[in-house]
Amino acid sequence: MPRFIQRLYPERIWAFSRKKDSVYLTFDDGPIPEVTPWVLDELKKHNAKATFFCIGENVKKHPEIFRRIIAEGHSVGNHTFNHLNGWQTKTTQYIENVEKAEREMINNSKINSQQSTISNQPSLFRPPYGKITSKQAKILQKKGFKIVMWDIISYDYDATISEEKCLQNVLKNIKPGSVVVFHDSLKAEKNLRYVLPKVLDRIEEKGLSYKSIC
Ligand SMILES: [Zn+2]
Repeated sequence: MPRFIQRLYPERIWAFSRKKDSVYLTFDDGPIPEVTPWVLDELKKHNAKATFFCIGENVKKHPEIFRRIIAEGHSVGNHTFNHLNGWQTKTTQYIENVEKAEREMINNSKINSQQSTISNQPSLFRPPYGKITSKQAKILQKKGFKIVMWDIISYDYDATISEEKCLQNVLKNIKPGSVVVFHDSLKAEKNLRYVLPKVLDRIEEKGLSYKSIC
């Protein structure tokens, strides 16, 4: 992500402290049965915690996978209900869609009809495609959402790049504090299945640890 864009929006989170030894892996667009449980299994092998920016529609379809993400100690964030592009969506409609996703996430995070385990935490939000207007961002921040961008994108969803290139995108650029974007989606599956196990091995060798965003 170019520095000047990061400087334009300092109130959004792009990365965390470079002085600590943590990196933040994030997975967008799930949960789906074809990919998300595999991601969770891989993370578990390394005792790695991550953050999942979920599409509300997918949470509604696969609540059991959503609950598994939470039960295994990862963070969840909101990625709108229908994966909307903020630049092409009216502000009221965009905000309503985010709130609809939030309700879906809170309702489905309840285990044994107890109180939601996520409703008392500040809500994380990542705009689909990274496209959100300043107005939309301001409203969401006022409602208590923390807007989480990234400093490293793996391009795992891009079928035109090789798996090895995708891996190098991550390994060459990752440093302490990095927020890395992956996708637990069908589009990204081929690259992700190659890249994620290797990233998990290599980063551990560098002495970095994986934290979820909270
Ligand atoms: Zn997305």
